[in-house]
Formats: sequence, structure tokens, C-alpha cells
Amino acid sequence: MPGLFFARCVFTPLAIIAQPVPAQPGIAGLAFQGAIMRRQLTFGLTLMLALAALVLPPWLAWREAERQAFDAETALTLGYARDVLHRTDETGRQALAGIQALVHSGLPPCSNGARELMREIDLTSTYLQAIGYVRDGVMVCSSMTGAPVPLGAMSFRTSRDVEFYLDVPIRTTYGHPLLAMAKDGYAVLIHRDLPLDIWTDVPDVSLAMMHLERRRTSVQRGHIDPAWLDRLGKETGATFSDGRYLVTITRSQHFLTAAIAATPISHLNARTREIAMRLVPAGLFAGLAAAAAVLLLARQQLSLVSSLRVGLRRNQFFLEYQPLIDLRSGHCVGVEALLRWRDGAGELVSPDIFIPVAESSGLIGKLTERVIELVCNDAGHFLASHPGFHVAINLSPADLRSTAIVGMLDRMMARSGALPSNVIVEITERGFVDKEKAREVIAALHARGIEVAIDDFGTGYSSLSYLESLDLDFLKIDRSFIESIGTGAPTSQVVSHIIGMAHNLELRMIAEGVENHEQAAFLRVRGVGYAQGWLFGHPGRFEHAANLHRAALESRARCLPQPTHAGPEAEPGQGG
Ligand code: C2E
Ligand code: CA
Ligand code: CA
Repeated sequence: MPGLFFARCVFTPLAIIAQPVPAQPGIAGLAFQGAIMRRQLTFGLTLMLALAALVLPPWLAWREAERQAFDAETALTLGYARDVLHRTDETGRQALAGIQALVHSGLPPCSNGARELMREIDLTSTYLQAIGYVRDGVMVCSSMTGAPVPLGAMSFRTSRDVEFYLDVPIRTTYGHPLLAMAKDGYAVLIHRDLPLDIWTDVPDVSLAMMHLERRRTSVQRGHIDPAWLDRLGKETGATFSDGRYLVTITRSQHFLTAAIAATPISHLNARTREIAMRLVPAGLFAGLAAAAAVLLLARQQLSLVSSLRVGLRRNQFFLEYQPLIDLRSGHCVGVEALLRWRDGAGELVSPDIFIPVAESSGLIGKLTERVIELVCNDAGHFLASHPGFHVAINLSPADLRSTAIVGMLDRMMARSGALPSNVIVEITERGFVDKEKAREVIAALHARGIEVAIDDFGTGYSSLSYLESLDLDFLKIDRSFIESIGTGAPTSQVVSHIIGMAHNLELRMIAEGVENHEQAAFLRVRGVGYAQGWLFGHPGRFEHAANLHRAALESRARCLPQPTHAGPEAEPGQGG
């Protein structure tokens, strides 16, 4: 069943993308090409995103398994190296202490007193097998009884004059298990295994104590590569992999030595696989879910896009008009045209859903064109006979990328007889606007006498930069700020600042979403000229707003010849 669901998620978007776009001649033909390209782009992007969503979680799970395995193996080798370091440091400390005790005793070497002291040192030292006096490379007397012990060939001497004899030729049933350390005429015998005799829970661990000056091991078990020391540099410790081993080196704080512990890389790989067995299936599952979600979302978006196309073809769009009120007189002086879509199933779809889809799919231009046609049909006649009445039309950022919008408005005005003073365009800062192009479009609108408002002011990132760079006539204070009036919320202060700023910039203001008298009074007192909102009227048929305006004109006429009510602001469309 999940497979079937996944397949549906995958193939439905593809099928939708593959639907033919109806071919059209001329300019429409170019639009047709553009639509195909956009579809191909959407297709590619969707597929890439789904693929990334599918692959990324298992890949991250694998990386996490690698990290956890590396941490665990590192902790293990670090523990071994520290154990070895502790034992080799202790061996060195006991050896040097024993030798110093003999040197400073002042007893003649090999005297009875000296032999007694040697036996005592031997008995009390945990890491030393024997201690004795050395002449010409032979331990002539020692804590042991019996014949003199030749130390064999000297392996190396350190800068602190300590001589190492790594292969003392004392034969036992186990071979040559002893090494000797000599200084100031005395030497200690050490069992080679003792410093490395630590508990490990993996069998093939390599362990060593390495002399840093000579780059030689004095005790060693398993494979040790002297080149590993290069990775230590001046550090106190290092952990790394050379491709074959995971290696940890820890430097001694007392001697010029370092302890090394290394495990074959196969241990790390085995541990990675073990952790991956737990994590990767979860990652795979998450990847499948994420990819399905991407495709499902794409499917929804794409089916919405094709429904939008159908909606345009079948005239499923219509406008509602929300009255715009002059706050001084309380008269209706215009409307905002708000687009509505009743889709094929008869459902009313919110513009908050279909406008972003139209914007991202490139259909917004057609939608704006339809809005202007609808305004012409619904209101053209009325506008032509009421030059003081205004229709605000919402534009999307994409509409400001070319002057095509100006041509559409020109044609609407020519067809209906409406005047430029009848039209206000509202631009939002939602999405990217090419300021240079927008300035050009606004200049063309202004050249005709069409005024421009910035919508949803204060909700985006670039409100202030819009005010700076674009030549605007109105500022629409966003509903969210109006809502906060009288609530004591921190944002309730912001509305006063916006109003002050608009006054300074000599911008006329329209308040959105006014729902009660308190808000209206607050705005009126502060010189906000216009408002719209449920207090004055919900979006509805154009006729309703037209009747409100007619009634306002009649009441004004009845008041004549008394002086007319002149507010501080002119009506929209009549200049600042
Ligand atoms: P907008 O331009 O900010 O439109 C105002 C929205 O606030 C409208 O929502 C309106 O119905 C709602 N409204 C008005 N008065 C009140 C009130 O007192 N209280 C509350 N709570 N809400 C109020 P709507 O019609 O759903 O439109 C949503 C958005 O869709 C619009 O926000 C606008 O950005 C976009 N839109 C609508 N029509 C068009 C259009 O023709 N073209 C473009 N590009 N966008 C449009
Ligand atoms: Ca608006
Ligand atoms: Ca708005």
C-alpha cells in the first residue's frame, strides 16, 4: 500500500506536467513556449528536490553512524594508550628512582651493603625484574643471585644519557623477554610485556611505547609504523586513521616518550556497519517520507496550477469590492477590487492560496489581466460618470517587471471611459521586485495620472527601502498594526510611528482591516485619511459600494450651499 501511495505521488505530478499546453499562434505562441519551458523547469526542480529528500536522510544517517563509530573506537584506543602511558611512565620513574638511590647511597658498587639495597629496591618496585651494577656492558652484580648478566648490544642512547638494551640475551623458555635501561653505571632489567600488560577487549590491538628522540619503540606489541609519529607534531595527543589502522598517540608529560595504541580499521568499519544497521533504515524511511511529501506537495501545487488554467478558460474568477471610506466625512469614496475564485467543484478558493501559486507558476500576469477586464465590466460605466470614485487594483511583484500592465490599464480606460484618477494600483513588497523596472512602471502610471499605493506596509523586510526608492502616493497600513490599536501590545506603538513617518514623507494613508469605532477614531485623530474594513463594509458586489457613493453625493448636495467639509487630505486621486 505505501508503494502504491508513493507511485501515485510520483506519477501524478509527472502526468500533470506532461499535459499538453494548448498551442496558440503569434504572441500567444511565445507564451506557449514559455509555459513549456516553465513546466520543464518545474519538472526538473521537483525531481531534483524529491531525489535530494530521498537520498539526504539515509546519507546523513550513514555519516552519523561513521561519526558515532569513530568516536567509540577513538575512546577505546585513547583508553589503551593512556593505560600504556601510565605503565611506561611508572616503569621509567621506578627505574630512575632505583638507580638514583644506589648512586646517592655512596656504597661501593657490589659491596654487601649495595647488594642489600639492590634487593630492597627490587622487592619494592612493581615494574622492575632486577637492578644491578654494570661494567663494560655486563651486569656484574645485581639484586639477583648467580652469574654476571651481559646486557647485549646497546640499542640507543638518549640525550639524557640513558642507554637502552632492547634484547638482553638471558635465555628463558619464552625466549628473550627482558630489556635493560642503564644510567650512571647501574641498570634495571624490565620484562618487555609488563608495560603493555593492559586489559583490552579486542584481540589485535597494537601497543607501544615509543622514544620520541630516536623514533624507536622500546616495548611494542603488534604492528607499529614509526611514521605515525609525524602526525603527533607538537601536540600532546593525536587520533587519526592511516587507512589501515585507527591510531591514538599520547605524549608523556615526564619523559620524551609517547604511548601508541592502534586498532585495525576493520574494527572501525565493523562498528560503523553495526550502528548503520540501526540508523540507516530510519534514514531510509525518513527519506521516503520526505520524498513523498515533496511529490505530494508538487502534485497539489501542479494540480492547482492546471485548475487555475482551467479557471481562467472557464471564467471562474470574479471580483468583490470592499468600500474605501473617507474617515473625515465617513463617505464611501472608492473600492478595493479583491479577486475571488469559485473552482470547478464550486468551492470558493482563498486568494491567499491561489495568488502565490499563480505568482510562482507564471500565471499571475493572466490573472491581473482578467482582474482589469472584470473591473472594466463591473465598474467601467460607473467610473466614467464618477471621476471622484476610485478602484484600487492589487498588483503582484511580477506585474511590475514590464510596462505591459500600463497598456492593460490604458485599454480598460479607453474601453470604459474611466479616467486615470479613477484608478489606484496597490503594490506589495511580497516577493522580489526589480526596483529599476518598478520605477519605470510607476513613472508611466504617474505620467497618466494613475496613483500608486504600497500595500501591507510594515509586514515585509524591505518596507523602508520601498519608501526610499519608489515614488509612491499612498501607504496602506497593514491590518496587523490596526488590530493592535488599543490592545496595549508592543506593536500598538508601531502604528503611531508608521503614521508619523507617512506624514513626514507626505504620503496619504489608507488603514486596512478597521473593525471597530475605537480604531477608526484613533486613526482619524492622527490624520489618517482613508480606511477600509468590516466596520464600513465587507467585500461584496460593486453595486453596493456604488450605492454608498451615490448616497454620499446626494447628502453632500443636500448640504449645499453651506461650506463643504474640507479635510486636511484631498480625496485619493486628487493629488496630495
Ligand atoms: P490585501 O490586499 O491586503 O487585501 C485585504 C484583505 O483583508 C482581503 O482579504 C480582505 O477581504 C480582508 N479584509 C478586509 N477588511 C477586513 C477586516 O476588517 N478584517 C479582516 N480580518 N480582514 C479584512 P482577501 O480578499 O482574502 O485577500 C487576501 C489577499 O489576496 C489580499 O490582501 C491580496 O494580497 C491578495 N489579492 C486579492 N485580490 C487580488 C488580486 O486581484 N490580485 C493580486 N495580485 N492579489 C490579490
Ligand atoms: Ca490590497
Ligand atoms: Ca493589504
